[in-house]
Amino acid sequence: MNVLVINCGSSSLKFSVVETESGKDLAKGLFDRLGSKTPGYKLKNVERSTEAEGSLGEGEAHEQALDLLARFLNQPENDNLVVTAVGHRMVHGGEKFTGAALINDETLAAVESCSALAPLHNPSNLLGVRKSLEHFTDLPQVAVFDTAFHQTLSKEAYLYPIPLELYREHGIRRYGFHGSSHKYVTSEAARILGKPLAETNIITIHLGNGCSAAAIENGRSVDTTMGLTPLEGLVMGTRSGDLDPGIIFHLYRSLGMSMEEIDATLNKKSGLLGLSELSNDMRELRQAAADGNENAKLALAVFERRLAKSVASLRASMSKLDAIVFTGGIGENDAVTRSAALRQLAFLGIEMDADANQSAGRGKNGFISTESSKVKAIVIPTNEELMIARETAQHIAD
Ligand code: ADP
Repeated sequence: MNVLVINCGSSSLKFSVVETESGKDLAKGLFDRLGSKTPGYKLKNVERSTEAEGSLGEGEAHEQALDLLARFLNQPENDNLVVTAVGHRMVHGGEKFTGAALINDETLAAVESCSALAPLHNPSNLLGVRKSLEHFTDLPQVAVFDTAFHQTLSKEAYLYPIPLELYREHGIRRYGFHGSSHKYVTSEAARILGKPLAETNIITIHLGNGCSAAAIENGRSVDTTMGLTPLEGLVMGTRSGDLDPGIIFHLYRSLGMSMEEIDATLNKKSGLLGLSELSNDMRELRQAAADGNENAKLALAVFERRLAKSVASLRASMSKLDAIVFTGGIGENDAVTRSAALRQLAFLGIEMDADANQSAGRGKNGFISTESSKVKAIVIPTNEELMIARETAQHIAD
């Protein structure tokens, strides 16, 4: 089945057409700077190796992007892109969604009620869904949530030690994100390890611009590093990850920062960018560190230390560990991050194969631990779009 996968953000819309059986991307593209003076697009029919690039009119946004996308899919030269369903990436499904959901009025209302939990993401996702419903009137459309995979967490994993009423009345708890990525690499890991999913015990580490790790016991997520929002947990490109919440009061009371400034500081100016005072991009920081930049070295050292600490603490949430899995732009491509983490995590029973680690990634699955290593380490390229497409296809078939 060919599924159109849509990931709609506030100023961008990414899409791909995925053939679910083979896992191939037939087409992919991006509309960016939506609503600005210079919105642009790039559309690619991957199967036919054709590309179109251009700009939308000033101020044009999601409506025009979907209009153009519908026209692109209908062009005679793109007649290989006949889609049967649309799958939407949705960030927050709260406790309401434990899996994918067919989009109808009830689903839309339920997603809207979760918007307070993800004010930056859910409204943009919903806008994409609404416009897509107007453009693809005949196709079934399915919402796939970043949070759904982690709905198997138990209360001791998801409750914050704050007054219980805040959970009961306002849903303040840990939800976890990057669900499609953690779920995809879990099923790939089970296949590579030659184990049934229900007997697969791994820690999945997604390191991209956003970073999170998850403890997967018997194929199900039992703990994860992100929380109510994607700010908790590991150090990320621009997000702080874990910190003493007292810092927020201090910034507010003693330094006179507004809540908006604090929010922007922790979400957009912290993490690798904040510490390095240089960049949020791993490649740039590795280069700067190699050139002797001390702040870049410091940012990377903090990133690595906290990564190892978080993975070690996830281990405490599991009774057995078969493997740890690296994915995401950094996890798949940055051998230095992987070797730093593996060295610090050797006590878990992981023995790194340094040569395999050096040459791993580049779009391929591969072991980076020695054959005798008690716990394996594997690099698995993620494919969130394929996961969303497969969940969409499966949901329609059910
Ligand atoms: P997103 O979370 O936006 O999907 P990605 O998964 O693409 O992001 O990850 C982006 C990160 O991956 C950036 O920090 C980038 O520098 C890093 N990255 C990509 N390729 C490499 C590479 N070859 N070596 C080191 N880091 C890389």
